[in-house]
Amino acid sequence: MIDILSLTLGELEGILLSKGYEKYRARQIFAFLYKQKVDDFSLITVLKKDAREQLSREFFIYPLKVKSISIGNDGAKKYLFELLDGSLIESVLIPMDNGKFTICVSTQVGCMMGCKFCATGRMGFKRNLTASEIVGQVRYILKDNSLRIANVVYMGMGEPLDNYNNVIKSMLIMMEEAGLDISKRRMTLSTCGITPTLERLKKDLPYINLALSLHSAVPEKRSIIMPINKKYPLEDILNVLKDFPVPRRKRITFEYVMIKGLNDTREDIKALARIMSNLKSKLNLIPLNKHDLIGTKFEPTPVSDIEKFAQQLRDKGIFVTIRKSKGSDISAACGMLATKAS
Ligand code: SF4
Repeated sequence: MIDILSLTLGELEGILLSKGYEKYRARQIFAFLYKQKVDDFSLITVLKKDAREQLSREFFIYPLKVKSISIGNDGAKKYLFELLDGSLIESVLIPMDNGKFTICVSTQVGCMMGCKFCATGRMGFKRNLTASEIVGQVRYILKDNSLRIANVVYMGMGEPLDNYNNVIKSMLIMMEEAGLDISKRRMTLSTCGITPTLERLKKDLPYINLALSLHSAVPEKRSIIMPINKKYPLEDILNVLKDFPVPRRKRITFEYVMIKGLNDTREDIKALARIMSNLKSKLNLIPLNKHDLIGTKFEPTPVSDIEKFAQQLRDKGIFVTIRKSKGSDISAACGMLATKAS
């Protein structure tokens, strides 16, 4: 049986043609799967009964099962999904100040990057998600909230560039105009910087919004916070980013979790100004979220110091924003996603 949500429109067309269907049927099926979000082939009423029955013998619609939904005081909604093999993943629906919505998706069960401030990193790695399991999160949440569209950020559990093929495929499926029709402009891929796949991304999906988990511009400090920096050093990542195709009027975002006494010093301001002055980039300062998996080693930089840090960088001509973390009361904010049972 073929998992139909794992197919691009072109792939579905090819399979249907080989089975004797007309090519245009693929677009009709895509519309029912992604615009109407049906979960049963018998509801694809544009097809004759025999065709629907044949489809359900050859394909299946991945049944993403929701185990729980937590709603935060600020309206963020965290979904705990159970996959077919019993693995658990989390996704978050975030209401934005402009009335729009963002869906934060997971790309792996756990993560092998081991960033020290991140609950997912502490879980270890179990497996990559399939394209269908990634697309399924967005499809489910849109349907559950009667939303037609949302921004999609690849910032949940897992390192997207460590699951490259499935992540790219999930984006292509979601971008399909016959289906969810979510444009590239609405998608953001966040990575800690796996240089070989970052290089591939330039060619495969140029002009995608890109966020780099930076967390320190000082190599030794970055290696403490993100051990992966030893394998893929910041210097190499910055080299790849030099000619990364950035969408018009957009910048590469550098994500920066503020850790007291570690990456919030004068040395850090200098290092940030040095690496950012030559790149079309912006710095997004994120207050550290304390959760039980990071223990007591890291403490958050006080809010007033974050403001000062930001101002000193602005004085040097750096574009800086301070993120208002949403969902911290339901462990849905940055670095807090983890499923202890998986
Ligand atoms: S921050 Fe991202 S890359 Fe790092 S451990 Fe957490 S999920 Fe993995």
